[in-house]
Amino acid sequence: MSKPVHELAAVIREYKTSFIAKHQPLKQHLSVLNAIEKCRTASLGGHADACDSCGHVRISYNSCRNRHCPKCQGTNKERWIEARLQQLLPVTYFHVVFTLPQELNCWCLHYPADMYNLLFAASKQTIATFAQDAKHLGAMPGMISVLHTWGQNLSLHPHIHMIVPGGGITAAGYWKHAKCKGNYLFPVKAMSTVFKNKYMESFLKFIQTKNITIEKTLRETLYNKSWVVYAKQPFAGASQVIEYLGRYTHKVAISNHRIKSIADGKVSFTYKDYADGCKQKQMTLEATEFLRRFCMHILPSRFIKIRHYGFLANTNRAMLQVQQKEMGVAAAPTIKKDWKTIAREKMNFDVDQCPCCKKGKMTTILHFPACRLGMEANAPPPVWILKKIAAQHKGTAGSNLF
Ligand SMILES: [Zn+2]
Ligand SMILES: [Zn+2]
Repeated sequence: MSKPVHELAAVIREYKTSFIAKHQPLKQHLSVLNAIEKCRTASLGGHADACDSCGHVRISYNSCRNRHCPKCQGTNKERWIEARLQQLLPVTYFHVVFTLPQELNCWCLHYPADMYNLLFAASKQTIATFAQDAKHLGAMPGMISVLHTWGQNLSLHPHIHMIVPGGGITAAGYWKHAKCKGNYLFPVKAMSTVFKNKYMESFLKFIQTKNITIEKTLRETLYNKSWVVYAKQPFAGASQVIEYLGRYTHKVAISNHRIKSIADGKVSFTYKDYADGCKQKQMTLEATEFLRRFCMHILPSRFIKIRHYGFLANTNRAMLQVQQKEMGVAAAPTIKKDWKTIAREKMNFDVDQCPCCKKGKMTTILHFPACRLGMEANAPPPVWILKKIAAQHKGTAGSNLF
């Protein structure tokens, strides 16, 4: 018997109906769940490839390409990282995390785009404020900000991971290291206060425009507590930055390998308990609750979750290139790679090579379409028919296909 596959799509397939009945999810959330459920199944159509040497037939189903799908991040991520490789400077890189206080969670669920836009803006302005201050740096900083909305147990925990090079570009166009030869960024406690004030200022403006009032106690609580700005150990060199970006930027709320069992209406998954020495633990939730939590992390459509600011913004590309030249960074050629090249180079997977004989070349012999709404999935033809097609396709080499 084959091992059961524990993945998000299976949870959706099995428990979507009860989840809808219990939690009445938003239409947009439902369409994301539908996409993930169908990802790489016959419902989305696909194609069959055959080996031109041994006749091995491989069926591939189309992927959903939804950015919340745990199966669909690979090539996007690699492409994005390739672009970041073009932007590196030989300086220390800092990793700062800006977290929203949990008192704002409810607001984030109701106004995700606004609340997260404010989070991007407040964290960016915080770094810019310190960078522009000659006491701290006196130059234009660069930032890569990535929004994560989840904590380890799938709860709502909106925070921004920001990568900041240890220095900036002065008005005269020269590089200026941050303090201690670029090994110290800005004081974290002071950043935390600036971050809180920037956020609160724009948050209060936002609720004014929406004509909503917030309780005085909430306002006081938010002002009275210290907001979490956390500076992690700086990266030791550019390769570590790239490794980090590779691991975290295109993450989704839960990856399939963390799901350990799906049974009897429950889902068990692993998580890291930061409060307990980062120990790996297992948590079991009702499947409907699991799906509810997953949906909290679906971002509004077209919401941009990775943003570049300062000299790392797209509009300042020329400025960065001048800097790279000055620092002796060899300009890497910008080649747009197709997904096959990315798979071969980064994932060690040669799409064109036959997985069976390792010698032949796989060629597409048949496409089968996605099923239309309300229709049963379009299953591909059985393998013996595909082999026949492969033989015809190949013409003379039919004999070793049967
Ligand atoms: Zn997918
Ligand atoms: Zn082969």
